[in-house]
Amino acid sequence: MFTLPGEYIGTPEEYDSGFGTYKDTEKAEIRSSNTGELKLDKEKHLAEIRAQTKIPKMQSPVTIILGKVIKTRDQVIEIKPAPFESQKFKFVPNEKSAILHVSNIKDDYIEDITTQYKIGDIVRAKITGIDETTVELTTDQGNLGAVKAYCPKCRQPMKKIGRDKVKCRECGEVTSRKTAKDYGQGNIK
Ligand SMILES: [Zn+2]
Repeated sequence: MFTLPGEYIGTPEEYDSGFGTYKDTEKAEIRSSNTGELKLDKEKHLAEIRAQTKIPKMQSPVTIILGKVIKTRDQVIEIKPAPFESQKFKFVPNEKSAILHVSNIKDDYIEDITTQYKIGDIVRAKITGIDETTVELTTDQGNLGAVKAYCPKCRQPMKKIGRDKVKCRECGEVTSRKTAKDYGQGNIK
């Protein structure tokens, strides 16, 4: 079945959320986040949506990427993978942005996605799946998350002051952030 982003697929009791889908925890629904063919594996209880194409599935030699947050939507953060000098980075899938769904940010219920990442943040993320239209990411691990964040008020770099909390060095603004363990240790350029 051809499916568009946002379409209802089923309940979490029926299916696990696979590639191209996400779990809406609040409404207890599995919905589509990709455009393509819906595959329901009844044995594995898995729902997946991949773009229909004859090109073989892309393989990524890189699983961990650094990228910049370029857009925040309701359920999804868009990240532009970027080559940073300090990282062996060879793979930019068609120069397109990758998506991080709210359910893959961290192992907690998140009501407002913008409390976790903001535009301009530099985020380390892991690729969980690729097809011709979509690259999916997760930051649900200690070493993943923002490695650099900027103050929403004065755009100065922020300092980590606790678990998933950062503070502006200039104006003192404190905000939440899903941060990587090595946040602010200067190992990115
Ligand atoms: Zn500030």
